[in-house]
Amino acid sequence: MYNNKMRKSEKVKAIVIKSRTSGEKDKILKLLCSDGRIINAVSKGAVGIKSKNRASSMLFCLSDFVLTYTGDMAYVSSSEVIKGFWGIGQDIFRMSCASYISEAASFLENADMFEDDTLYRLLGHTLTILEKADENSVLIIAVTFMLKLAGIMGIAPEFDKCVSCGEESEYYFFSSRYGGTVCPVCVPAMMDEAVLEKNEARYLKLLMYIDIRKIPSLEYPEKSVSAKLAACVNGYLSEYFHKKNNSYDMFIGLFNI
Ligand SMILES: [Zn+2]
Repeated sequence: MYNNKMRKSEKVKAIVIKSRTSGEKDKILKLLCSDGRIINAVSKGAVGIKSKNRASSMLFCLSDFVLTYTGDMAYVSSSEVIKGFWGIGQDIFRMSCASYISEAASFLENADMFEDDTLYRLLGHTLTILEKADENSVLIIAVTFMLKLAGIMGIAPEFDKCVSCGEESEYYFFSSRYGGTVCPVCVPAMMDEAVLEKNEARYLKLLMYIDIRKIPSLEYPEKSVSAKLAACVNGYLSEYFHKKNNSYDMFIGLFNI
């Protein structure tokens, strides 16, 4: 149905989840569309100060795009910004968090998607709360986004009990390879995994299912605990995608933990 070769042009509403300069003047965008598709598109001349597509080619920007197709390539022929999420750029914590989650979303290819709007809505809600987020909340926002991304991919980790024996425990090891919490009895020797207290595992489960718009009104754990949770979830998705999220180190580095 979505064979680009059959299209000459189309209008899409999309968030830019990756934007890189190509040559001197062009940008190559990865667009997450409101119908769930992911489209790579060239925005010609978008680097230029006078380009009418300059703002819409920026990372995190939500716009209406008119795309035209030449062979397999999509080109931005015109665009109109709907929401720039400009509040994110005013703060290094927000900016770094948004870069991190956008990079995670950009690991997805169209083939991974189910062509529904779940991820698009999740990213839109996340960017909206990030516009006003403070230093204390951005780690938990990132953790929640990543858990929900895992859920969308159908790889939600287990947090309720040991993935191996099914027993509950006062504390667990979090194993990316095993897909969640492993109790101390079942944990393989020499396993170098983070330890999660039972209540921390429960908190992760809560984040997985909460409406992300409610995150600003939650209570947050200590910063060091939030950072540990972020490391668990980041490692989990890196293992799945076989890709390192290059924005992670900078993001977590902001917290001096
Ligand atoms: Zn066990």
